[in-house]
Amino acid sequence: MKRLLSIIPILTLFASCTKKEDIAKTDGTIVTTIGMIADVVREIAGDKQEVINLIGEGVDPHSHQPLKSEVDRIQNAGLVLYNGLMLEGKMGSVLSSRKEKGIPVFALAEGLENVELIGDQAHPDPHLWMDASIWAKVADAIGVRLSDFDPENKEHYGSRLTEYQKSLTDLHTYALMAFGTIPPDQRVLVTAHDAFSYLGRAYGIEVRGVQGISTESEAGNKDINDLVAYLVEKKIPAIFVESSVPEKSVQAVIQGAAQEGHQVKIGGTLFSDAMGAPGTYEGTYIGMMDHNITTITNALGGGVPQAGFQGKLND
Ligand SMILES: [Zn+2]
Repeated sequence: MKRLLSIIPILTLFASCTKKEDIAKTDGTIVTTIGMIADVVREIAGDKQEVINLIGEGVDPHSHQPLKSEVDRIQNAGLVLYNGLMLEGKMGSVLSSRKEKGIPVFALAEGLENVELIGDQAHPDPHLWMDASIWAKVADAIGVRLSDFDPENKEHYGSRLTEYQKSLTDLHTYALMAFGTIPPDQRVLVTAHDAFSYLGRAYGIEVRGVQGISTESEAGNKDINDLVAYLVEKKIPAIFVESSVPEKSVQAVIQGAAQEGHQVKIGGTLFSDAMGAPGTYEGTYIGMMDHNITTITNALGGGVPQAGFQGKLND
C-alpha cells in the first residue's frame, strides 16, 4: 500500500508534463513580476532581450490575483525574475510550478550576501528596493542571471551593469544628503503601509506605517489611535499616501490628528510597491526613488531641488 501511494504522484507529474508543453519549450522571453525588477533588467540587457513585466503601475503586488494571461506568460517564459520574500503572495504557486519544470526562476531578494533583512525570520520585509545600496546588489544578481541565460552577450551585460551601477551610487549618495537636510526631530516618515523600513534604516529616518508590511492586513482603530497620538506628540507636519494603496486609513489618521488640534498635511504620493507610468522618469527605478526622496525631504522641512538630483522630476 505504501509503495503504491508513492507511485501516484510520479504518475500524475508525468501525465501533466506530457499533456502540457514539453519541459524545455519556452518562447525565450524574460518575465518579471514588478517594475523595479523589469527596469533594472532592461537597463542591463539593452536591446538584447525582450522583458515582459506582469504587475504594473498602481497595482499592489501583495494582493494581486494573477490573471490567466499572466500565468500563461510565466508558463512560456525562458527566464523568470521575481522579488520573493512573499511579496508576490498569490503568484507564488505559479512561480514554483515553473521552477519544478526546470525553467530558471529566481527570487532576487532571497539569499543576498551581506544584506540583513528587516523583520522576523518567518516574515521578512520584502521591500528591499527602498535602499539603493541593496538594490545595487540585486542589479549584480540580475547581471549574473542574464549572463547565465545568454552567455554570448556576457560582456555586453557586464559593461552596461557597470554603467548602471554608477547611477545607483549617485542615487544612494543623493538620498543620504537629502534626508540629512531634514531637521533631526522631524525625520519621521508615516506612510499607508510599512514599505519604507529599508529606506529608513539606510538613510536615517524613523518609519511608521498605518498598515503592516503587507497591504493584506487592514489597519485597526487601535493602530490609528496610536499613530495619531504619536504625530501629535512629535508635531510631525506631513504624512504620505502611496500610489498602489487606497488613501482611506491615511485620511483617518489626518482626521484623528485634527480632532486633537494638530494639523497634518498630505506630503505627497509616494511610489511604494509600483512605479509611475511607463515611459516617464517616475516609471523607472531611479526616477521613482528620486521622486520619493525629494518629496519626503521637502515635505518634512528639508531642502532639495523640486526637480530632484537629475533635474528630471516634473512637479
Ligand atoms: Zn508592500
